[in-house]
Amino acid sequence: MKISLVIPAFNEEGNITPLYQKIKEVLENRHDWELIFVNDGSRDRTREEIEEIAGTDERVKAVHLPTNFGKTIALKEGFKKATGEVIFTLDADLQDDPEEIEKFLQKIEEGHDVVCGWRFHRRDPLWKRVPSRIFNFFVSLLGGVKLHDINCGYKAFRKEVIEKLDFYGDLYRFIPLIAHSKGFRVTEVKVKHAPRKRGKSKYGWKKFYWGFLDFITIIFLTHYRVKPLHLFGTMGTVLFLPGAAIEIGLAVLWFTSSPHSIGGHYPLLWLGILLLIVGIQLISLGLLGEMIVYGFMSMKKE
Ligand code: UDP
Ligand code: MG
Repeated sequence: MKISLVIPAFNEEGNITPLYQKIKEVLENRHDWELIFVNDGSRDRTREEIEEIAGTDERVKAVHLPTNFGKTIALKEGFKKATGEVIFTLDADLQDDPEEIEKFLQKIEEGHDVVCGWRFHRRDPLWKRVPSRIFNFFVSLLGGVKLHDINCGYKAFRKEVIEKLDFYGDLYRFIPLIAHSKGFRVTEVKVKHAPRKRGKSKYGWKKFYWGFLDFITIIFLTHYRVKPLHLFGTMGTVLFLPGAAIEIGLAVLWFTSSPHSIGGHYPLLWLGILLLIVGIQLISLGLLGEMIVYGFMSMKKE
């Protein structure tokens, strides 16, 4: 089984050569392999380091992006060059240990299509680990797959998964969820994790905020992409029905007792109106979504 390792690198000078040597040591004489370094517009000596290795070892391919496009695009460009049956992604910063490749392969051989790394003893600062824990809790709860560490850059995929899935923006970390929704078998393995020794981490707290928004996108796209009314219609109905009940109740009160009796119920009257309006808006939004989906579907047919 040929394996491809796709490694995105942004300003990772000093990490590239030791990583290559470690990978070579682990895989030599054991597997048919190739390595694809994607230089994501680095402004240090990353480019030179990659070129030097690619010049001496034909199994190493170099992709250079003209500027810093971010990890998702870097990975996508790398995937285009990958020819192996199993495709790995790992970080260039030496935090992921190439020794663990065998564990991933074992899971693939057992019949899984996607294997996600789980940094069991994560060697990152606390301010990164705590939000990550919370994030993963919600991912497991709502995403349909139980995963402890979806943000881990160390993952393995059967070639078909990469060929069939499409992802954009920052959605690469959710590939396991998208894959699961398409019927692929997803699992995880515990991996060793080392602290970053050289260079700086490229992500701060913003990563979690964007990650949270991306998660909403993923849940929406994997569950409701072709049935938006199921989501918006449900939310709308939940608001509309109590709103209607309140207004009908108040109308009955108006007709059955003296008109002044409504006076004490003004806040309730307004609440009812608010619920009705927002409910109708949400249902309309869902219908609009259905129209868009229908439009796309008929366009596809033509
Ligand atoms: N990376 C990249 N482009 C970017 C940011 C990061 O290719 O715009 C690469 C980076 O070089 C590393 C991996 O993505 O190989 C993970 O980044 P980092 O180690 O900074 O993230 P952390 O482990 O701190 O979450
Ligand atoms: Mg890192």
